[in-house]
Amino acid sequence: MRISVIGTGYVGLVTGTCLAESGNDVICMDIDAGKIEQLNAGRVPIYEPGLEELIKRNVAHGRLSFTTEMKRAVTRSEIIFIAVGTPPGEDGSADLKYVLAVARDIGKHLNGYKIVVNKSTVPVGTGDKVRAAVASRTRHAFDVVSNPEFLKEGAAVEDFMSPDRVVIGAESAKAVRIMAELYSSFTRKGDRILVMDIRSAEMTKYASNAMLATKISFINELANICGGLGADIDSVRKGMGYDKRIGFEFLFPGVGYGGSCFPKDVKALVQTAKQVGVDARVLKAVEAVNDRQKSVLYEKIVDHFTRTGAKRPAGKQPLAGRTIAVWGLSFKPRTDDMREAPSIVIIKKLLKAGAEVKAHDPVAMDEAYKIFKNGIFLAPDSYEALKGADALALVTEWNEFRTPDFVRMKKLMRTPVVFDGRNILNREELQKFGFRYYGIGRR
Ligand code: NAD
Repeated sequence: MRISVIGTGYVGLVTGTCLAESGNDVICMDIDAGKIEQLNAGRVPIYEPGLEELIKRNVAHGRLSFTTEMKRAVTRSEIIFIAVGTPPGEDGSADLKYVLAVARDIGKHLNGYKIVVNKSTVPVGTGDKVRAAVASRTRHAFDVVSNPEFLKEGAAVEDFMSPDRVVIGAESAKAVRIMAELYSSFTRKGDRILVMDIRSAEMTKYASNAMLATKISFINELANICGGLGADIDSVRKGMGYDKRIGFEFLFPGVGYGGSCFPKDVKALVQTAKQVGVDARVLKAVEAVNDRQKSVLYEKIVDHFTRTGAKRPAGKQPLAGRTIAVWGLSFKPRTDDMREAPSIVIIKKLLKAGAEVKAHDPVAMDEAYKIFKNGIFLAPDSYEALKGADALALVTEWNEFRTPDFVRMKKLMRTPVVFDGRNILNREELQKFGFRYYGIGRR
């Protein structure tokens, strides 16, 4: 099929590339000329495992191309995906200005029947707005479909290629048939295409993200309770997880969720609920617990140095003049995305308290530079970040941080203190080597 994808970010680029990989003829369009220029020059603007190779292959086979021209993208396609951002507006509700601008532009260039598919995460009722926006600029027939995306950054290609389910919200049998055909190559292992009305499809995306965010805030709250009581969240987590009704997924305590989706989607759902007179108390608590959780590691650091730094001159802040190494900057492993990353909150607090920060992340260093410029030292590797450090704060659970060389660490650090924001380090081993260890909700 001939497809265009408008918006070439994490979702649009993966969608377009994977659809090309299954044999479709795909154009990815973006208004960001720099991004398109990079892609046309063979450079991939984001880090996503496996993506670069797929892009190269499909471009070489002539199935995938990139443009800034909306007209070209629309006129030669049967299906047009909208995959632009839906950032939070001032009150937390999703800002639809990009989605609706694209919808109007699509309408302007429509030259026959097409399916306009909304892949961006949008509040219930947006399908109607998109339909009106397209219709305001054309007399041609078209259908609007909601096809929310459930991929995870860091495993986006894999998720798109074998999705748990494909949700299609549509009101036209023709559109459903075409969409089901498009997705048939990704759902061969079983019938995982769920057809529903557009509003339910839009809601399904928010419901899923809100549920996952709830699990994270729930386990973080439990971890904080365990920490105070001398119980160990890791044992508790396992004790819970083997119950099939509960399971292990998304029940890892940490420094709070971040990224471009959970924070904004929970906020947006709270606002949508408000519009229909529902006070979304659970969701508000999920958000409040998460905001609080982003400070927990910092508070442990301050607490440690307040207790152990008694010899400091009176009035001197406990972190002033300390060097804190930070491992992990992206909001989760296997991505360079730092949007709403807990690392940003933690580092800003450390800097404000007078500490010097030496940080390392396997792929998010460029993103970190955009945020902190020269305000922190971006170390070329994880051990370099430890040189002269008074403590290490592990913020993102990259695999390469799981089993580091403790002897080497101890030699490099000024004082052997570790704040493990993801509970991934071997506490007993660290203690054997003389480290002071702090985790989240661990004894
Ligand atoms: P992104 O910011 O990475 O990409 C959005 C792209 O849209 C940018 O490249 C931007 O230049 C482009 N754009 C904006 N206005 C445009 C216009 N008028 N014409 C053409 N291009 C335009 O965003 P993303 O992370 O890919 O998210 C896109 C949508 O998908 C959001 O609604 C998000 O909530 C949803 N989503 C994201 C993820 C994720 O993991 N990132 C997962 C599922 C769903």
